[in-house]
Amino acid sequence: MKRVPCAGCSLLCDDIIVRSDGLFIDEVLGACLKGKERFDQLTSNNRILNPLIKKNEVLEKCSWEDALEKTVEVIKNSSKPLLYGFSNVTCEAQLKGIELAKAIDGFIDSNSSICQGKVLNIAQSTGLTLTTNTEIINKADLIVLWGANAAESIPRLLNKILFSRGKFRMTGREIRTLIIIDPVKTASFNVMGVRDLALQIQPNKDLELIRVLKEECCVANTISSEGVAGLDRDDLKRILLHLSEAENGVIILGQGLLRPQTESNIIRELLELIQMINSKQEKGRVSLIMMGGHFNMAGFDHVSLSICGKIGGLQFKNHQLVNSEQNIVSKIDSEDFDCSIIVGTDPISHLPRNLSQKLAKKPIIVIDNKKSATTYLADIVLPTAITGIETSGTAIRLDQVPIELKTILNPPSNIPSDEELLIKIINKINPGGGGD
Ligand code: SF4
Repeated sequence: MKRVPCAGCSLLCDDIIVRSDGLFIDEVLGACLKGKERFDQLTSNNRILNPLIKKNEVLEKCSWEDALEKTVEVIKNSSKPLLYGFSNVTCEAQLKGIELAKAIDGFIDSNSSICQGKVLNIAQSTGLTLTTNTEIINKADLIVLWGANAAESIPRLLNKILFSRGKFRMTGREIRTLIIIDPVKTASFNVMGVRDLALQIQPNKDLELIRVLKEECCVANTISSEGVAGLDRDDLKRILLHLSEAENGVIILGQGLLRPQTESNIIRELLELIQMINSKQEKGRVSLIMMGGHFNMAGFDHVSLSICGKIGGLQFKNHQLVNSEQNIVSKIDSEDFDCSIIVGTDPISHLPRNLSQKLAKKPIIVIDNKKSATTYLADIVLPTAITGIETSGTAIRLDQVPIELKTILNPPSNIPSDEELLIKIINKINPGGGGD
């Protein structure tokens, strides 16, 4: 029996027990269904075990040598390569991804730039109060899920932070108030207790709600009798009262507000609201947690910031970082690329159709361990080991805490890790150029 972290989502639960003889995993204890699925990926039908190259519109198995040679050929024929993904790989592989982008004068971005990276970028001018899961477990008395269906997207989050008992209090769930603000009555509403506030707001009215709360925060009794966003005046007053009286409140920001279509004004004004509440707070504070989905989405932001001083959207020219305001969406939309290297993600399924079509028009190299819509359209597919099961490394949890992922088994057919594969590509492109 071994205790390992799960890389099924950004919560990176580090209390999973596995029984393994080193060849197979016989039992997984403590993981949710999503986590179990991650372990089932080992033997899943959609696992990729061989490199593939497209010939006559069909992907065919090939040798590693041929696959790497073809990869280098595509990259060398490209003057504007686009590298994207990197949220489902370790920080070590993310670092190699940035080194590859630098070596080939490419543009590199992660899923975070259209998700939680937006918050971090805006926070550079507004400031940001963060917290950790441990602090929430031990001290939180208010949890707000804003556009966040935690029960389904991060299945064990509420178990850990809502129902657990902290070190410094003799009580747990009974002193924690839960507020859910969401236009959809999600599964997370099912955990509401009598003291909690279930606020089903009208769709796309988050900004109006935030503005009314900000106004009321500055001058009392400004809320009109009709309320806002489908909430009445009493509900609005209750939200503000909870936020400003909490000793240790946390707002968990979910895909409802982090999704690509969200205006950056909503995020900016929410961060400003938190700052306003905290400046008035006398006994506590309100913090923020971003609920990104991919297990190491936060990692790319950390690696990119520490290496390049910028969060995502890194453009290299003459092997130097240059100024760029672009992100993955604007790059694809303006067709400012001539090949793409997609690592551990499925943009063909995730992006809007017009962007997927533009991406599919240019050669695609995919590095991943499972089949997806993107691998079906790829010109070259390079399989890698499953991180956190067949290879180890560092990942950053949703509360920005680093977690060490462990190797349980060796990968089949000597499949390399993402990091090893990226080093091989760098070395082939730039022999002796520091890939390792
Ligand atoms: S909540 Fe996430 S990290 Fe925890 S067991 Fe489930 S999938 Fe794994």
